[in-house]
This record gives sequence, C-alpha cells and structure tokens, in this order.
Amino acid sequence: MTVRAEQAIARYGDLNTAVERSGLPAQELHYAWYDMQAANADPPPAGGRKLAECGTIGAHRRHLRYREPVDPACRQAYVDWYAKTKLT
Ligand SMILES: [Zn+2]
Repeated sequence: MTVRAEQAIARYGDLNTAVERSGLPAQELHYAWYDMQAANADPPPAGGRKLAECGTIGAHRRHLRYREPVDPACRQAYVDWYAKTKLT
C-alpha cells in the first residue's frame, strides 16, 4: 500500500471514484483499499483458532490486521484471490 493511494481513496471517498479520477494505477489503489478494509476489520475471536498458513488470503488478512509485514507468498495469495473475485 502506498500513502498516495490511501490519500486518494480518502479524498475521493471510495475506490471506484479514486480509480477514475486520481490517475493512479488501479492495482495500487486496489491494494490500498483492501489494506484499509482489512485494517478496520474486527479482530479474530481470542483463543484456540488455528492460524491460516502463509500463502492464503486468511494469512494475508492476518498480517494486515496485526500490522505484520506481508510476505511474497501472502501477497500473491491476495493477488490470486482478487483476480478470482473479479471473474465471478
Ligand atoms: Zn504470510
């Protein structure tokens, strides 16, 4: 995520408007938007829950939630997940 993408989304109010008007690369905006959603998500229920393994969308989400660095495997999982959501 980049600061300029985050600022563009904040300024234009939503992802689609930011993509249309900010002139920033759509993928960069999508990453920033997704990261912002994940950062605002509720924390997982405490205790006992098995953590998702790296390379899954669940692990990617967890990294963001706990502000951990996102490794390449998890970033790729997000890219794959995102591509799938666009196809269906
Ligand atoms: Zn990971």
